[in-house]
Amino acid sequence: MRKPLIAGNWKLHNTVQQSEQLARDVIEQIGQTEEIEIVIAPVFTALAAVNTICKNSNIQLAAQNCHCIDSGAYTGEVSAPLLADVGCSHVIIGHSERRQYFGETNQFINAKTKAVINTDLTAIICVGETLEQRESGELFDVIASQVKSALADITATQMAQVVLAYEPIWAIGTGKTASSEDAEEVHAYIRGILYGLYGASIADKCRILYGGSVKPNNISELMAEDDIDGALVGGASLSADDFAAIVRYKKTLKISPQ
Ligand code: PEP
Repeated sequence: MRKPLIAGNWKLHNTVQQSEQLARDVIEQIGQTEEIEIVIAPVFTALAAVNTICKNSNIQLAAQNCHCIDSGAYTGEVSAPLLADVGCSHVIIGHSERRQYFGETNQFINAKTKAVINTDLTAIICVGETLEQRESGELFDVIASQVKSALADITATQMAQVVLAYEPIWAIGTGKTASSEDAEEVHAYIRGILYGLYGASIADKCRILYGGSVKPNNISELMAEDDIDGALVGGASLSADDFAAIVRYKKTLKISPQ
């Protein structure tokens, strides 16, 4: 059984004070549950402050990116060990906005994944196709190439520190969600790649999140699919009410107050 994981990507939003308030609201709204893993990813400058707020909750902290080298003359970069130092347990790697606006290649994403794993953190690796790629029939080739390159030289043991996120680029921040069937088709395909690379026991354990306009009204349907193990949520994670409603997608979820 894979434990569902719901991650909120706050992107480039919120001051330290606003991030602290949102974290407090999320903790209060969600309460305590053992059944779902919950991760939030504020901006770099708010990580330490939000870590202090999340310390006595079961909410874990992620960074939205990191550099592939631990330290040195890399002005403006932040490394995985420095993220661990401020309390991060996860790092989002290869988000489509990083690929699109900052020219991140599959090779660079693989190097970052290794840096995250070598720091004993968990990498949430994002993959996804553009609308043009989907419409021209390249979807599966693009996904296979992104998944295989990101995981190059990652061992079966290290896969315990990997979560994959399928995020069709045309669905991010657009209000368009892939239908649960379309999403499941790609998730099952990704799991098939993992079977080929690592065998059944690793492939069956690896969580594959869906991302792309996930909201309280579509999460249940997505989570009902066999290979969708959680969500990477952008816009809706900026509202504590919406994020909490997404986390509480399962009517039977046991939640106790914080
Ligand atoms: C994201 O940022 O990863 C994302 C999926 O955004 P949104 O939920 O706003 O589409």
